[in-house]
Amino acid sequence: MHTIWIAYGSNQGDPIAQLLRARKNLATHLDERGASALYRTPPWGYTAQPDFINAVIRYRSDLAPLALLDLLQSVEQQQGRERPFKNAPRTLDVDILYASAKVRACERLMLPHPGACERISVILPLGEMKFKRGLICKLKS
Ligand code: ADP
Ligand code: MG
Repeated sequence: MHTIWIAYGSNQGDPIAQLLRARKNLATHLDERGASALYRTPPWGYTAQPDFINAVIRYRSDLAPLALLDLLQSVEQQQGRERPFKNAPRTLDVDILYASAKVRACERLMLPHPGACERISVILPLGEMKFKRGLICKLKS
């Protein structure tokens, strides 16, 4: 069993519904252990497109990382994902941020996900989840 962190994003075809549908689907394959709130973030890379809805979910799974990538890409396909150009609008993007399993980087799968942790679409939901786990006490004024 290893822990995996998955970033969800959508800005086409009712983005919130897309995220909820993908989450429900993945929960039948993976053991969900925690989810961030939904965040609205500006597009990155190609800016002439709608804002995104994003979330991060943590799972436990026995799936090998490349099998997990296959699963995520099949869920993207089921939800009409198209790739006309880099950073194009998308019905669903599900990326593996990192996994506790040791993975040798290959062209298909790089872990931690390159660049993801510099993006506000990941920093906000991931920070929320990490903060919950690391909270010691609230500062009094
Ligand atoms: P984006 O970079 O915008 O998420 P895609 O979803 O089209 O673009 O992914 C492009 C490729 O990135 C995928 O075909 C996949 O093989 C590769 N990839 C490399 N590392 C990862 C990762 N950690 N999670 C998801 N995809 C990855
Ligand atoms: Mg992706």
